[in-house]
Amino acid sequence: MSTTLSITQSMQHGPVLGDGGYLIELERRGYVDSGSGREKVGTGRGSGQFTPEVAIEQPEALRELHREFLRAGSQVLQALTFFGTREKLNRAGYGPQTEAINAAAVRLAREVAGTQALVAGSVSRTQLIERQGMEALPIARDHIAEQIRLLKDAGVDFLILETFFHLAEMKVGLECANAAGLPVVATMSFRPLIHQCTDGHSPAECARVMSDLGAIAVGANCEQEPARMLPLLREMRTATKTPLAAQPAAFRTTDTCHCFTRQAAFPDDLETIQVSRREFIDFGRAARAEGIGYVGGCCGCNPAYIRALAQGLSQPA
Ligand SMILES: [Zn+2]
Repeated sequence: MSTTLSITQSMQHGPVLGDGGYLIELERRGYVDSGSGREKVGTGRGSGQFTPEVAIEQPEALRELHREFLRAGSQVLQALTFFGTREKLNRAGYGPQTEAINAAAVRLAREVAGTQALVAGSVSRTQLIERQGMEALPIARDHIAEQIRLLKDAGVDFLILETFFHLAEMKVGLECANAAGLPVVATMSFRPLIHQCTDGHSPAECARVMSDLGAIAVGANCEQEPARMLPLLREMRTATKTPLAAQPAAFRTTDTCHCFTRQAAFPDDLETIQVSRREFIDFGRAARAEGIGYVGGCCGCNPAYIRALAQGLSQPA
């Protein structure tokens, strides 16, 4: 693929292959802090860490992972700007580096992508809503708008809004992206079950709302392995004609808890629930038939999983 094609044009030629997940892979390599040494991660009380300061502290480690994803077949490299709002970075002690981290992350992705891949800016929830409730939405808007401005200035081709738990915050993200004039791939994360997001909307309703707000692809990312995510995507398919986007995690969930971040294995025993890459070959094979326009990985995936997706995508369904 050449960068002369936009993300929208590329999806018209079949599923576009993305990348991911950077943070857990870089945590495993020793370059990202999970926070678990200081706090019980996921309680909403600590820093919740998993922040992207590696972009300025160990740029070569991030550059290398970008190279590996590109070599695996990724047509899009995501700048490692996940959890890169000033709100989240402040809590982890990196607030003053917000501009530098976002700019460096985009620069590194672009450097590796060259003319071989598009560069997406990753924007996720601020974590303010699960900590403080809906009244924090206006503050969340300011932080998301600021990060999107930084990503636009740094020259991303489009945005991936991902790992939003509340549809209300996703709507804010889409409004900010629209104001900046950037195309958006929008994916919600569903927990503890796939039947509704944290503020109570079904996958179908989320898909409809994200499509209506102009997202060029809508879907789900993180929390579930491909087989668990598939019914959720099919429900979204019934609600919109917009291409679907799927970035599943590579961790096994259970019938009573459809999310890996609430399994006892998170974050320090994740190897015990790792899904093999074969499931990603199968998922890649199914992608075209399921109407998936954008397919990538999330937590637990590494370049071997993206290579598996590429292999599946190249096989008949
Ligand atoms: Zn993830």
